[in-house]
Formats: sequence, C-alpha cells, structure tokens
Amino acid sequence: MARKILIAGNWKMNNTIDQSVELAQDLRKYDFAEEKIEVVVAPPYISIKPVCDALAGSHTRVAAQNVYWEESGAYTGEVSPAMVLDAGCGWVIVGHSERRQYFGETDGTVNKRLKAALSAGLRVIVCVGETLDQREAGETFNILDTQVQGAVSGLNDADFKNVVIAYEPVWAIGTGETATAEQADEAHAHIRNKIESVFDGDTANNTRILYGGSVKPANAMELLGKGNVDGALVGGASLKSADFCAIIEAGAKVSGDC
Ligand code: PEP
Repeated sequence: MARKILIAGNWKMNNTIDQSVELAQDLRKYDFAEEKIEVVVAPPYISIKPVCDALAGSHTRVAAQNVYWEESGAYTGEVSPAMVLDAGCGWVIVGHSERRQYFGETDGTVNKRLKAALSAGLRVIVCVGETLDQREAGETFNILDTQVQGAVSGLNDADFKNVVIAYEPVWAIGTGETATAEQADEAHAHIRNKIESVFDGDTANNTRILYGGSVKPANAMELLGKGNVDGALVGGASLKSADFCAIIEAGAKVSGDC
C-alpha cells in the first residue's frame, strides 16, 4: 500500500482570528485531489473553531499545535484532547522542537500527550529531530532513536496506526537552511528501521514520515521525491497561501508520478 502524502502547515503563534480565517478561506480555493494527498493546518488554539468553520466541507483538516494529557481540572492554560476534538480538530502535533526548547517538553511528556491524544481518538504528528551540535557530534541517529523510543513507549501497533512522525532537524527550522533531500531520506530511513524494531515491518512500511525544516515551493519537489519522505511539516511557508498551495501541488505531482 502506497503511503499517502501528507502536507501539514504549522501556523505557530501567528495570525489573529480574522487573519487565520482569511488564510483558511484562501486555502479553500485550491482544490487538491483528496485521493492523492492529505492536507492539515494547525492554527493557534483560539483560531481552531473559526478555521474549522471556514474549512467546513473542504478536504483540509485541522490540527492543534499541542495538547495536555489530563482530561479536565485545575491545569490553568492547558487544553485537553476532548476539548481539541470538540473544537473540530482530528489531529494534533506533539513534541515540536519549540515545545522542547522553550517549554520543557521531554520524551516523557511527549509520550503522555501522545497516549492521551490517541485514546481520545485524535491522529498525532510526533516531531523528532537533532540540534546542530548533536549532528556535528555524530549523534543524530542516537537522538532520533531515543526520541522515537521515548515517544512511543507503551503503545501497540494498533495505537501507532494513527501516528505520523515528523523529522525536523532543529537547525533547519525557521532558519532558511534545509536538510538536503539525501540527509532527509537517510534520517527517515533510520527512523523507519527504528519503528520496525519497536513494532514490525508492516507498521514501519505503513508509517508516514514527514520532513520539516524550511520547506518551501523551491525545495518541496526534491524533498518529497525521496522514497522515505511521505510529506512535509511546513512552518513559515504555510502562512502564505500561494506558497503552501505550491507545496501541496508538489506533493500531488509526486503522488501522481508514483
Ligand atoms: C516547523 O515549525 O515545524 C517548521 C518546519 O518551520 P519552518 O518551515 O518555518 O522551518
């Protein structure tokens, strides 16, 4: 079974509600073939519901950028999986490097968020990736192994069907510097082998692994053309509808060529 290309846009802490709705309405104008490609956007929490309304009836799905692991209670500032679902999301991103870097996210908390999100019925994009120091020290594969193992600890292969991994080298996020298509493919192949060792060959084969880190229209085709790259997690370029649509288009072309 071919893995369907997934293009996900992470809007991070950008855009007012009106700007988010406007961006969503612009995305509606681009009619991609749903059988070839899947598209998800992740607005800030407060824009989720209006963006879901703006995208109603389209093929573009909506994700939250994070989620807490408790169901409800005295956790000021947090949002539960049930709330994310209630707002209209089918997806959530967990373990983004900015969460790890600025908000104390660890492999252990990524694991808790992932389990809670899956139990609630959400599909999850789990981010992993090495820093520049780690890459230069030759630790990339060890770091990826540790992060993948830590995130999926205690999950079975049925749970894992609703998980997508995003390989996002920290040095390439928001820097304009992109991993080469070969570096991305090599890291993805390594992650796929790791998934096989934790679960099994079928699970590894069916798991989508996205690349993230300064993806833009100019480099999307080359990255998405690699056999182990099953889509993209796009930050900056997802805030401009023309650029994001060009990346979706590149994904659709690659799928058509498969
Ligand atoms: C991201 O935030 O996940 C990301 C990849 O950002 P950018 O595309 O801006 O590098």
